[in-house]
Amino acid sequence: MQSVLSFLLIVLISSFALHSKAQEVIFGTNNYIEYQVGTLPLVISVPHGGDLDPASIPDRTCNDPVYATDAFTIETALEIKNALFSATGCYPHIVISHLERAKLDPNRNVADGACENPEAMAAWTEFHGFIADAREAVNQQYDSQTFFVDLHGHGNPIQRIELGYLLYDDELELSDNTLNTAQYINYSSIQNLALNNVNNYTHAQLLRGPFAFGTFLSNLNYPAVPSESIPSPGTTTNYFSGGYITANHTCYNPSAPINGLQMELNYGNVRDTPANRSAFALAFTQSVIGYMDKHFNLSWGACEPVSVNESANSERNLVYPNPATKGSLIHFDLPSDSSYLYRIVNVFGQSVSSGELNAQHTLQSEAFPSGVYIVEIVNESQVVSTKKLVIE
Ligand SMILES: [Zn+2]
Repeated sequence: MQSVLSFLLIVLISSFALHSKAQEVIFGTNNYIEYQVGTLPLVISVPHGGDLDPASIPDRTCNDPVYATDAFTIETALEIKNALFSATGCYPHIVISHLERAKLDPNRNVADGACENPEAMAAWTEFHGFIADAREAVNQQYDSQTFFVDLHGHGNPIQRIELGYLLYDDELELSDNTLNTAQYINYSSIQNLALNNVNNYTHAQLLRGPFAFGTFLSNLNYPAVPSESIPSPGTTTNYFSGGYITANHTCYNPSAPINGLQMELNYGNVRDTPANRSAFALAFTQSVIGYMDKHFNLSWGACEPVSVNESANSERNLVYPNPATKGSLIHFDLPSDSSYLYRIVNVFGQSVSSGELNAQHTLQSEAFPSGVYIVEIVNESQVVSTKKLVIE
């Protein structure tokens, strides 16, 4: 391939990208569950995006299981991670189930979610254990000025983002005054914030006022409910109010002093294409930073920078030479019987080049300005590796 990768880009390398420690990534048993350790005051879980279907775990049949995969939610979470890194130089904590939902549903109790299969039960325990670890780490580092998002995708016909605060659709029909009573605050996954926030906003204001999470998203052209423009979902829309994960890993659970919500993303314009996921990740990042800056007494600067994840293939020289000199041929050590897409991202999270790798899995580097990049290698829509590449 005569690879002429033309782009004009001024690369300013921030010192954080060059002088930071590697991000820690922990895998559970059989790599079913992944915990990407971060340092931002934000924990994201992704329970329904996995595609592993080991024969050793039969498809769940107990207690009316739901099998639907939340398509591209893992990819969306990883885009969010990139966008947050670009904005802050730090990563959120991310916990991912790589198992198909037919094998494991972490958003149910263990009896329903694992159906007594020992491997699934172990994965269920690890998924929740990693979230608890992440909660503890962020709450300690940020004195509980922290936020949790359980990330899903919905298939409801109305194309909008559904934010679940553990309040049912008919409860969101109630007046602000009613939602501000102790009874309804006690049902809420942001109850600690409602009782103590920087501007003394009420519970209802936090749910659907001008500075509600849904309003931040809506203002960036991602309609969300509840929000100022859509204060309640209506009672006939199959709205998702939040499930087991939200109930157990937010302050609805008295032993988990972190505010949070279940976020159900619509598909079109949000999850459906790499470009849309990337654009949404930027809007999410702006929204969560705006929301937390507004309501929490928090210093984002307290995060400790970490560098890109090199653990996935650290024992193999996936990309070489690395550092590469300008103009050299970069080799990717990949199985020859498969084709791969690549994407090269600069330290600001901007995609600077992408395409299909040639049959030799090489790429001419001459078009790249000197700097630090992140190379993503994608096979059948899955990111199989993320690697730092330095062009000298
Ligand atoms: Zn889901």
